[in-house]
Amino acid sequence: MHRRTAALDNIAELFAGEGAGEYLGEAVTMAEHMLQAAAAAEAAGAPDHLVAAALLHDIGHFQGALHGRDLMRGQDNRHSDTGAEWLAQWFGPEVTEPVRLHVAAKRYLCAIEPGYRERLSEASEYTLKVQGGPMDDAQAAAFAELPGAADAVAVRRWDEQAKEPGAQAPDFEHYRPLLAALMR
Ligand code: FE
Repeated sequence: MHRRTAALDNIAELFAGEGAGEYLGEAVTMAEHMLQAAAAAEAAGAPDHLVAAALLHDIGHFQGALHGRDLMRGQDNRHSDTGAEWLAQWFGPEVTEPVRLHVAAKRYLCAIEPGYRERLSEASEYTLKVQGGPMDDAQAAAFAELPGAADAVAVRRWDEQAKEPGAQAPDFEHYRPLLAALMR
């Protein structure tokens, strides 16, 4: 019990601290972006584990500002893996796998959905190239077979919607009970 409270306090501090920083050239901060993604998931009636995944999907960027700068300097920082592994201390695969796969889901959607790539933000288009560009047919087919593919695609769509400067979204504390119920 205490362990969960401490972990949630730690995550809340990341949102309030590092989260106030710039999000890779987007017009919203990291925290605004992740809170907007969670609000989009909630508005869509998503199950709790996907609201949590949307809220936490970019937490891998919080492990030091250096990582984010590396991505914008043209080097993939693998923030999706870093984030998923860090979250696995407390959350099961229903939360961590969509986080792990949210970058792959962008590469997948750009490959299979006409017009998807054109709707990416400028920063997201840039990172797409760093992350390997759209998947080829074999990669897309393999991705679609993964057990977490559909959840990752859902999180990705909320991710893309969550870059609106000034959009209202609940704060981190709104999600604390939902997160606590998912933690082990
Ligand atoms: Fe994101």
